[in-house]
Amino acid sequence: MENAVNASIAGGEGQIVIAGAGYAGLHVALRLTVRLRDNPAVELTLVDRHDYHQAITELPRVASGTRAADAVRIPLQDMLAARVRFVQTEINGFDLPGRRLLTGAGPIGWGRLVLALGSRPNDFAIPGLAQRTLSLYSASDAERVWAAVGQALTEAAAEADPERQRRLATVVVGGGGATGVELAGELAEVLPAAASRHGLAPGRPAVQLVEAGPEILAGSSPQLIDKATRILADLGVQVRTNAMIAAATGDGFRLTDGQLVEGGVFVWAGGLKAPELVAESELPTGHNGRVKVDQYLRVLDHPEIYVAGDLASVTDPDTGHVLPSLAQVALEEGETVARNLDAELKGKPLEAFTFHDKGFVVSVGTRRGVADIAGITTGGRLAHLLKDAIEWEYRQSVRHLRGWDPVAR
Ligand SMILES: Cc1cc2nc3c(=O)[nH]c(=O)nc-3n(C[C@H](O)[C@H](O)[C@H](O)COP(=O)(O)OP(=O)(O)OC[C@H]3O[C@@H](n4cnc5c(N)ncnc54)[C@H](O)[C@@H]3O)c2cc1C
Repeated sequence: MENAVNASIAGGEGQIVIAGAGYAGLHVALRLTVRLRDNPAVELTLVDRHDYHQAITELPRVASGTRAADAVRIPLQDMLAARVRFVQTEINGFDLPGRRLLTGAGPIGWGRLVLALGSRPNDFAIPGLAQRTLSLYSASDAERVWAAVGQALTEAAAEADPERQRRLATVVVGGGGATGVELAGELAEVLPAAASRHGLAPGRPAVQLVEAGPEILAGSSPQLIDKATRILADLGVQVRTNAMIAAATGDGFRLTDGQLVEGGVFVWAGGLKAPELVAESELPTGHNGRVKVDQYLRVLDHPEIYVAGDLASVTDPDTGHVLPSLAQVALEEGETVARNLDAELKGKPLEAFTFHDKGFVVSVGTRRGVADIAGITTGGRLAHLLKDAIEWEYRQSVRHLRGWDPVAR
């Protein structure tokens, strides 16, 4: 790990700096370690505010107390090869003409930069939302959600009035995308037992899922939406569609039709945007503040900067839509960025990015899920096992890549 003085480096042509050790950035670092094993002159630097990588796809389990937060914080030192210089620091801005990242550890110069800073929750400027709701984008966020649920159940148990008890023990999730569905399902499954541990009747807690659009899991096949809706209903989740939140108040979510959705815990999983420091930079941005890139994933007018993961605004030529914020997209983009950086160093042509969709899998509760793979929709136990297998395979792959370290520790 580097300190402030050592981190302030000049950044020559042979200096590749990767900002962000999430799905995209870590993948670039691991892949470049392999690709550049015969080219030790190139320096690889990875920068992140944490000294661990977060398995974000597993957060709904942490938020419902079925997985420890530390289990989804994977120490970077267990994954990175010795040749990758890791700097743990906050990135505060960019000096684009000077080719430097501005960080808490001092400026870090780059010859080539990879931006992979992920997303932040987007409250769409809905009044009160940022102040009154919890979000779910980090292990710490997930811990806060589970702690708030415990606190609400404790308060409900101390309450004599059944109506007030019910309100306090209700978790309201805003946003019926994959994150909202996974969280609502997981919580619905664990809340009865958690209520019993707090001395409440198992049937007292409730989970509500509030979605502005006409359906949950928007953009998915009707079959998948139908299967997910059935599982949620079976778990007792009350799904409200066409329910647009106008404001988050002290009493609950106020919908645009005037209805009030009451509860004891409010979580916002309704949207993502690029981190603020990107909006404040002079980088060209598009939808939700994501950075515009060319077909090789280089920033428009800044060919020395690549972008991968949620931060990249990449349009799918098949649909005309910007690719969704998904780990599988981040990993594929990371792969292309690593290949193109290697190609540049070898004077070879760059490769245009193409997304190969492997399918869509969403867990709904602790035992069931839904999946659309190669045009086939499944729902139930198999889909949940598939989700487990994908997460297990991901953890294996990041550890395996380190085995290529030419200077293994
Ligand atoms: C609850 C939840 C569940 C999800 N489940 C799935 C799923 O099942 N399948 C799927 O495909 N996708 C899923 N996603 C989406 C997926 O997690 C993201 O698309 C993916 O994490 C994007 O990868 P990334 O590398 O762009 O960003 P991230 O993985 O978010 O990594 C960004 C990194 O940048 C670092 N960073 C950011 N800003 C700074 C700064 N200023 N200074 C220093 N470091 C900084 C962060 O610490 C982080 O390590 C889920 C998302 C959420 C929130």
